[in-house]
Amino acid sequence: MGYQYLFGPVPSRRLGVSLGIDLVPHKTCSYNCIYCECGKTTDLTTERTEYYPMEAIIREIDDYLSTDPKLDFITFSGSGEPTLHSGVGRIARHIRETFPEYRMALLTNGSLFSDPAVRAEVASVHVIVPSLDAVSESVFEKIDRPCSSIMAADVIAGLVSLRNEFTGEIWLEIFIIPGLNDTDEELLFLRDAIAEIRPDRVQLNALDRPGIADWITVPTAEEMERIAASLGFPGVEVVGGLPSRSDIASFSQDVRESIIGTIRRRPCTMDDLSRILGLHPNEIRKYTDTLIAEGQIGEKAEERGTFFVALS
Ligand code: SF4
Repeated sequence: MGYQYLFGPVPSRRLGVSLGIDLVPHKTCSYNCIYCECGKTTDLTTERTEYYPMEAIIREIDDYLSTDPKLDFITFSGSGEPTLHSGVGRIARHIRETFPEYRMALLTNGSLFSDPAVRAEVASVHVIVPSLDAVSESVFEKIDRPCSSIMAADVIAGLVSLRNEFTGEIWLEIFIIPGLNDTDEELLFLRDAIAEIRPDRVQLNALDRPGIADWITVPTAEEMERIAASLGFPGVEVVGGLPSRSDIASFSQDVRESIIGTIRRRPCTMDDLSRILGLHPNEIRKYTDTLIAEGQIGEKAEERGTFFVALS
């Protein structure tokens, strides 16, 4: 059966083999980050509602997990902000109660944790991976381009409250945009915020795929090491390349649909597609050539290689 709300399993850099759950429509988000791999936010909002029917999402989850798949994580992620779905808490509780053998992760921009109700809803998730890209309001606005009601100070206060209440792990992610949040001043602010939030891990990320702003550069490994060392947190991780997982069972029966669906979520190199779909590049090439000829996807040269991008 094809799934509307589940995707993958995909080999995630941080979460191993991860089944994704997409809770909100494409680019429904409280931020419009300049580095977003999913493109421009089309619905910039803080409204929490049942964007997709909760019961339909739970039916898909039950159907897929009843096959006993091998997963490292079930991850609330996708191409928007998962905590905007008003049923996130009930869905997470359902998974925890019905399939207690699985671990859940929540990839979130962290913007809604100033609301105690949202913090209470995510209590049954095992790992929360929130973003914090800047502390000063001006840098925050330039990088994350949030809804006008969201202030960096409130985001940080929300994360501190989350830390005080949440019993699982918090892995704080900082996306480095050279020239914006890697200045001595901003790094000092981030260092103080990390000390207040007390996450279990701090991970530094940077662009390695085409974004929506061509001027964003990719920091060098030395630069990332310098930034990591300046944050005053032991063992800041610099997120590396995708793990190679050749043993991931195919999720969709329809290879063509899987390829285009994967590329629509984010631009991918041939290597990425091969790892995500568990298929040989020669096999994938047959499909990508057809999709290019049909005008459904295109190719874009970047530092990390040639990326397939969705055109339709
Ligand atoms: S928070 Fe995530 S989904 Fe939203 S714009 Fe930023 S990177 Fe994209």
